[in-house]
Amino acid sequence: MKKCSSCGNRISRWYIIKETLGKKQYPLVCDQCGQKLYFTARSLKISYSLVPVLPIVLLLLLLFHIPDWIAGVVILILLTSLFVIYPSIVQLTNDEERWF
Ligand SMILES: [Zn+2]
Repeated sequence: MKKCSSCGNRISRWYIIKETLGKKQYPLVCDQCGQKLYFTARSLKISYSLVPVLPIVLLLLLLFHIPDWIAGVVILILLTSLFVIYPSIVQLTNDEERWF
């Protein structure tokens, strides 16, 4: 569970997924104190490194002519894993960090 560093409000996994992947709102905003919460540079690097995973897997599934139902199961497992892993790797900070 992530916490707002200003007020200690707990930031739920679902909130992180919803705000970053769904609404595309960044930085996150603490709903209790209004503090802007940025991802750390390390979190951003890891997050962006996950972006090409799905296209690469899709390409491999197409190249090797994997049956549709197996491909569907693989994609479902992959997406579920990404949704579970993504909030765990995110670290929040009050200040926007430089990448380099
Ligand atoms: Zn807060």
